[in-house]
Amino acid sequence: MLSLPLRYAFGVTSSYIGRLAPSPTGLLHLGHAATFWAAWHRAQEHSGTLLLRNEDLDPQRSRQEYVAAMIEDLAWLGIEWAPPMIVQSRRISLYREALSRLLTAGYAYPCTCSRRDLAQMVQAPHEESDDEPVYNGRCRSLEDASSKRIEPGVNYRLRVPDGETIRFTDRNLGPQNFVAGLDFGDFLIWRKDGLPSYQLACVIDDAATRITEVVRGADLLKSTARQILLQRALKLQSPAYFHVQLLRDQNGARLAKRHDALAIRTLREQGLTPEMLPMISHSLKQK
Ligand code: GLU
Repeated sequence: MLSLPLRYAFGVTSSYIGRLAPSPTGLLHLGHAATFWAAWHRAQEHSGTLLLRNEDLDPQRSRQEYVAAMIEDLAWLGIEWAPPMIVQSRRISLYREALSRLLTAGYAYPCTCSRRDLAQMVQAPHEESDDEPVYNGRCRSLEDASSKRIEPGVNYRLRVPDGETIRFTDRNLGPQNFVAGLDFGDFLIWRKDGLPSYQLACVIDDAATRITEVVRGADLLKSTARQILLQRALKLQSPAYFHVQLLRDQNGARLAKRHDALAIRTLREQGLTPEMLPMISHSLKQK
């Protein structure tokens, strides 16, 4: 289907660099296809480059077979990306170095709250989302919060400027604002299993690969506010953001990996072609 060369338009390399950042924790579904198509179209419109980043930082849920499946599904969808694929699990030292910098600069602190402590902090589930709850700051001012060493088996959080409104203008959804300490709290940047959180790894990789525009689902709008704070703390330039509205099923629920019937693979096995997918997407609600 779409086959314009991404890298060189009119013999000139555009400065646009986008990325696809799937987590290999399940099969890609129609919702991913919609977001990835948007990313692909944006890159094409700008005669830019599109990178593929394998966000495999969840050792319990990431599976190699899903990596292979996503590469195959992207090819079937007609989405081209510029190799090599970036694999987050191979970049831990880079994220660790960033955590060190955050600790040294006083932006990060260790958090020893147990799962149970954290569960008690959660009030009523406020939103339909897997977003992390607002942390109550219990470990913020503990004595060892001034330790600059990275201790094994400890979580680390970013100290957010309570009350500050983080604003950005989304290129698709317009002006956005989130209040630190209210819409989100001191968030996890490092997990006690020795791995960075999604927020930290994402910011480091977007900067390291010089992403100029991030295209992703609107469920991550609030994460963008967090990531802007991380970029500020690490003195990194923020990319532009283009969030895509999420597809919903007939009951209004967000499409998730459990919607096997809408897995790209299933649709393909049923004999559908990539060109038919937008029609199915339109029959689902966008919100
Ligand atoms: N890996 C994330 C996901 O699959 C996307 C993160 C991003 O685009 O920043 O939901």
